Amino acid sequence: MTNMNETCPICGEGKLHETNKIRIASYKDQTDEVPLYFSVCDVCESETANSKQTRQNKRAFNAFKKRVEGLLSGEEIKELREYYGISQKEAALIFGGGEVAFSKYENDDVLQSEPMDTLLRAAIRFPLMVEDRAVEKGVVLKQRPIWVDKGTRGTKPIIHSFGGQNEANEAYYHPFKGNSCEAEYDNTEIIGLSA
Ligand SMILES: [Zn+2]
Repeated sequence: MTNMNETCPICGEGKLHETNKIRIASYKDQTDEVPLYFSVCDVCESETANSKQTRQNKRAFNAFKKRVEGLLSGEEIKELREYYGISQKEAALIFGGGEVAFSKYENDDVLQSEPMDTLLRAAIRFPLMVEDRAVEKGVVLKQRPIWVDKGTRGTKPIIHSFGGQNEANEAYYHPFKGNSCEAEYDNTEIIGLSA
């Protein structure tokens, strides 16, 4: 990538060419390959980073820190939010964190807290929690969990009524990441479906 419009701020003569390389980053005794974005002057060969590249570098390093900390990646959080078909603002209404929180999480501008990460992981595995919370906050989920017969997991959406047995006769299937868990709800409830 090149940007022929930018003149080198060091020598004032050359043009800056955007590029990137892989560097070995360290964090908490762990190392990983992390991209580094910068520009090189074609005259003095100075390497500089503009504000856009500085932001890219910060995001790349935050993504690495999330891996080390075992936190959901920005991409995974976006996937979760999009699975439910809600906006970033609606996600903040449901999960908290403030209006711009999800933009920051998804872009790796910040690391979500451990409690937030735990909550989001629960939201992946237990969509009923998300549904309840969405109703409370007046958010309409554009996509809702699919309940299927155990054994036909992922193939046959059904409308299911849970009895009071809590016998986990059904498996709950979540298309997001293909997670599934046994149903353990003992209330009687009709789950409407949409995919
Ligand atoms: Zn230069």
